[in-house]
Amino acid sequence: MADRNGAQPRVTALARKLAARIAECGPLPVDAYMAACLADEEFGYYRRTNAIGAAGDFTTAPEISQVFGELVGLWLADQWQAQGAPTRFNLVELGPGRGVLMQDALRAAGQALPAFLAAARLHLVDISVPMRDEQRRRLGAYAPNWHADLADVPNDAPIFVVANEFFDALPVRQHVRRGAAWHERRVGLPDGRLGFVDGDAVEVDFTRPQAPDGAIVETCPAGEKIGCALGARIAEQGGAALAIDYGTSVSGWGDTLQALRKHKPIDVFEAPGECDLTAHVDFPVLMAAARKGGAASFGIVGQGAFLTRLGLPVRLGRLLKSAAPRLARELAQASQRLLDPREMGTLFKVVSIVPAGSVPPPGFAAELEI
Ligand code: SAH
Repeated sequence: MADRNGAQPRVTALARKLAARIAECGPLPVDAYMAACLADEEFGYYRRTNAIGAAGDFTTAPEISQVFGELVGLWLADQWQAQGAPTRFNLVELGPGRGVLMQDALRAAGQALPAFLAAARLHLVDISVPMRDEQRRRLGAYAPNWHADLADVPNDAPIFVVANEFFDALPVRQHVRRGAAWHERRVGLPDGRLGFVDGDAVEVDFTRPQAPDGAIVETCPAGEKIGCALGARIAEQGGAALAIDYGTSVSGWGDTLQALRKHKPIDVFEAPGECDLTAHVDFPVLMAAARKGGAASFGIVGQGAFLTRLGLPVRLGRLLKSAAPRLARELAQASQRLLDPREMGTLFKVVSIVPAGSVPPPGFAAELEI
């Protein structure tokens, strides 16, 4: 059977492995399928592939313009200073990809506030071996520590954190409405190949009275756990976190699981383990998790508004003055991509986590402002 792009699904090594597992143990919850596609020890996407950039499968904001990472670095340094410039702190990036964001952030923050750089201990949380190699190339001079999980980062000092397009890579569960009940959506072998099937009715901790029959509600237990842990650490030790991702500012329903290969959407079963798989981030839930941990959370602000408030247009104006025409054109186009509501400006959203009682950090005005 051809998929919607007319391509015949290839049976990848991971598809075979999962089919054998399903034949033996029954259909998998969607989060187990997503976790296997991204992180299976043998065949998971992030274990083997260099995914990001023009030659990869998708492009991210720090890869589009260096100004993105620079502004994030200045935001973190500002929060560090606002909290009394602690002489030692843990600087954490969740899912640093090729290390581009942190490289730009450290360069800008180090120039503005050398003491920030001197006080930072760098911790990179990533499961990808090829990405870690790239991170080592760009960030080796800052003596980073690598971890597979936030839980492994020492909780012994204030923590300043950035996560760009990290939460969207965390596995989601899906629930499908059937009458008054919610059934866990699972991945089985409906036609002898991988596909969705209904699982049993399950207890859920969300309410969606307006959702029609057949509606799908996603939850992200792994993301909630990390949001809560960030809130707890920031409440206990001080610090600040910035999460930037695409997703929703109103918890609703809809299937947002999507696969990307070579910058094009493909069916989520077309090439398991050989394409990126993501889901939209439910920002209200992430913020609630951080608050449950004991911290305050500000947002939700669109990426375009956030970067504009941090001064991207001013910085761009300065760069354009000294740039040759071709470079100037490229710089302007890159900024446009980050800011424009028709591109990344509003689909991408930003939330912050700061100690309870803090004033809104730079870039954030009110609770909800999308
Ligand atoms: N922040 C980068 C990369 C985003 S891609 C950028 O903006 O360019 C997602 C990143 O998260 C990759 O580096 C991937 O290896 C990492 N990642 C995905 N799932 C993860 C998990 N469960 N734990 C830790 N890192 C993960």
